[in-house]
Amino acid sequence: MSVSVLVTGGAGFIGSHTVIALAAAGYRPVVYDNFSNSHQSILDGLREILGTDVPCYVADCTDKAALFDVVEREHIQGVVHFAAFKAVGESVQEPLRYYRNNLDALLTLLEVMLEVGVHDLIFSSSCTVYGTPDHLPVTESSPVLPALSPYGNTKQIGEEMLRDAVTAGKPLRVISLRYFNPIGAHSSALIGELPIGVPNNLVPYITQTAIGLRPELIVFGDDYPTPDGTCIRDYIHVMDLAEAHVSALNNLRRLGALATHYDVFNIGTGRGASVLEVVRTFEEVSGQPLRYRIGPRRSGDVPAVYADASKAQEHLGWTARRTLHDALADAWRWEQHWQKLSAQP
Ligand code: UDP
Repeated sequence: MSVSVLVTGGAGFIGSHTVIALAAAGYRPVVYDNFSNSHQSILDGLREILGTDVPCYVADCTDKAALFDVVEREHIQGVVHFAAFKAVGESVQEPLRYYRNNLDALLTLLEVMLEVGVHDLIFSSSCTVYGTPDHLPVTESSPVLPALSPYGNTKQIGEEMLRDAVTAGKPLRVISLRYFNPIGAHSSALIGELPIGVPNNLVPYITQTAIGLRPELIVFGDDYPTPDGTCIRDYIHVMDLAEAHVSALNNLRRLGALATHYDVFNIGTGRGASVLEVVRTFEEVSGQPLRYRIGPRRSGDVPAVYADASKAQEHLGWTARRTLHDALADAWRWEQHWQKLSAQP
């Protein structure tokens, strides 16, 4: 019988792609999502890709009774925890809402796991924990700097809570994955990223500009100390990222005999790309010029950050396989598919 894995936030961007990767690896994913930032149509896409319905519970991670019930009823044996608010700017405006939601959800989940006896957890963390790094590429031993936003702080505090619980001998095996910049979509174009309102992130902004929803992309600054003056990030295809969760879970399950375990891994490609490089590559894949202009810097942006992902390769046997070109082609196909889908009555 396949091992049932709870995917909190499983209807979201990274969560839904991880559902596909888990199913492909022989796990039985169970989605748990409050649909606060996800769309019903993602479940239709999942069904079409997998050829079967994915069990899905519409509930909140802070609802302990609901969570307990699902974990018991579905015989959950591992958890991948994505459910969290993630808008950096909004978190600055509404810090308490972010702390309440993201930390309460993680605490409630941990309590339920300990009460029911589920040991294996993969936690979504972020490269924001490194702030402005002194050395590139960043390794997992690079210092964790004071967070630049309440959102980033919830990731840091989440990691600390998990490490402390493991240090205290709680029967938990945990891996925190520090994501770099996830982009792209499943190659079927049946699921992808669905930003609410005006996108904050570069790639959805680019695809929405190309399809005519936005007049032009503003490149936030071209006077950074980088080769072309624009910021450098490590853009990782969301399916590579999804597969990293499977590798991490496989790794935890192999540790079976160990009662407690905590580790952290960078999940990136190891290659930095500038904003203008992303724009040029997008123009290549879409076969059309992109309307853009250079604007002022966005406050809080780090000039350059990219991963040293060799620890994940060595310990998890995982490495990113898809290119920036692949990711942008998939993001573009998804944008076109979504516009057609949302235009239907
Ligand atoms: N960016 C940009 N214009 C936009 C959105 C983003 O120039 O409309 C730049 C941003 O300054 C950063 C990069 O694109 O250098 C990636 O930004 P994103 O918000 O996608 O991710 P972040 O690295 O900030 O989490």
